[in-house]
Amino acid sequence: MRDVPSDVLLLAAVKGRTAGEAKEAVECGIKAIGENYLQEAEERFPFIGKSVKWHFIGHIQKRKVKKIVEIFDVIETIDSFEKASEVDEQCRKIGKKMPILIEINSGRETQKSGVMPENAEQLISEMSILQNIKVEGLMTMGPFFNNPEEIRPYFRLTKELFKKIKKSKLENVEMKYLSMGMSDSYMVAIEEGSNIVRIGTLIFGPRKK
Ligand SMILES: *Cc1c(COP(=O)(O)O)cnc(C)c1O
Repeated sequence: MRDVPSDVLLLAAVKGRTAGEAKEAVECGIKAIGENYLQEAEERFPFIGKSVKWHFIGHIQKRKVKKIVEIFDVIETIDSFEKASEVDEQCRKIGKKMPILIEINSGRETQKSGVMPENAEQLISEMSILQNIKVEGLMTMGPFFNNPEEIRPYFRLTKELFKKIKKSKLENVEMKYLSMGMSDSYMVAIEEGSNIVRIGTLIFGPRKK
């Protein structure tokens, strides 16, 4: 049996919420915040500060990486050597070593971000030369289904990949975190081995925009 509350990090996904809403969540015990947009993070950061861990969970644009590495403690959405190398370069300038997760396109959906599962290990081994980042796990969204049970195979595939990469003992890689599961799918995700769940709607209610 897993001790879920202490094994699983509850990340509050705050896109579209006010700084006040995010701060209230922190006051209620949230230890980590997930941001999709740099601009929203910059607005909220002064109100919340370093009392929580800041995870970047959005699409990464090259020109924003400099600021992203200043604010964030973990970047969960790295899916190419190019992005990893830009993060590495900006971290080098400020003397920081950034924990990153590799985003896996577990549903192999052409319109979605993430590296294809079969290319992940190769990509991660190429990243081991980048000294200012450290690969600490995997993240996946998975396809959307109305019935969360249908997402299980995609979470399972990502967990299998996680175990395989962990076994390979690649240099500068420490597989610790598996970020999967959102409001509708977190229970399935935890059953399949997730230890970071990214929850928005269940904490804050339905999104307005
Ligand atoms: C919005 C978002 C979430 C949270 O979604 P909910 O369904 O509101 O819980 C989790 N992960 C990412 C990457 C998101 O963009």
